[in-house]
Amino acid sequence: MAMAAQAEPDGDGYLLSGSKLWVTNGAEADVFVVFARVPEQGVTGFVVERGAAGLTVGAPMDKMGLARASLTSLYLEGCRVPADAVLEGPGRGAAVFHTAMLHERALILAPAVGVMRAQLEAGLKHARTRRQFGRPIGKNQLVAARVVEMYERYVLARMLLEKTCAALVDGTLDAPLACLTKLRLSEWALAQHLDAIRLHGGTGYLEETGLPAHLRDAIGGVLYSGTSDMQRVILAAHLGL
Ligand SMILES: Cc1cc2nc3c(=O)[nH]c(=O)nc-3n(C[C@H](O)[C@H](O)[C@H](O)COP(=O)(O)OP(=O)(O)OC[C@H]3O[C@@H](n4cnc5c(N)ncnc54)[C@H](O)[C@@H]3O)c2cc1C
Repeated sequence: MAMAAQAEPDGDGYLLSGSKLWVTNGAEADVFVVFARVPEQGVTGFVVERGAAGLTVGAPMDKMGLARASLTSLYLEGCRVPADAVLEGPGRGAAVFHTAMLHERALILAPAVGVMRAQLEAGLKHARTRRQFGRPIGKNQLVAARVVEMYERYVLARMLLEKTCAALVDGTLDAPLACLTKLRLSEWALAQHLDAIRLHGGTGYLEETGLPAHLRDAIGGVLYSGTSDMQRVILAAHLGL
């Protein structure tokens, strides 16, 4: 794991130093989970409470979307935590991280499936009611095909999410399925929002429709929790490549 933060044993606790970029909800969090390298113990997870001496939370960053999720940095300068702040035990950080990522990648795009459905329903209504050249635009095969693609994406995204949730419940969820879910749901959501804008023509470009905001949010989806490239890198390794 690439990681800059360090932790030194200090009496019955640890001293943390380093910085963490990209902390979603950092402006609101009361508690942070920090992973750091401990000499001779390995990567270890720590629970650090907001307000701890030596912990500074950076200002929220200005970003293109996801307005309701703050994004900050975290700076640790000799931040002392007690021994019971260690998650799962010294040197168990990588295992904690991988378990957290498994759940995150499986579920983080679940809300996007609902938004994809809303886009499909709004798109269908628009294709039936918007008239150009004397007939509803949905009577043009190219427009109908776009709506059908929106339908395909929504149905497939929902099926994949349901399969992933079932695997989570019965304890069979593995990294390839979690990566595949994160990859497909984020890419389908991005394509869905772009198609929704195309379907609405120039109106879709107006902020008042809410469509541009959805598109900006969806771009974040192919970046956070590991980019689509990185999901494919993991899947390629799973396939033995
Ligand atoms: C809205 C948002 C919220 C985020 N929240 C968090 C958070 O809460 N916690 C957190 O830890 N991070 C968070 N991130 C960070 C995010 O996980 C990283 O930005 C992302 O993993 C990419 O890392 P990077 O920015 O360092 O890009 P880089 O690693 O520099 O990658 C740049 C480009 O190169 C590609 N690339 C890099 N290495 C490889 C490779 N080996 N094979 C193929 N392609 C490669 C990438 O896919 C990308 O296209 C967030 C990011 C965003 C945008």
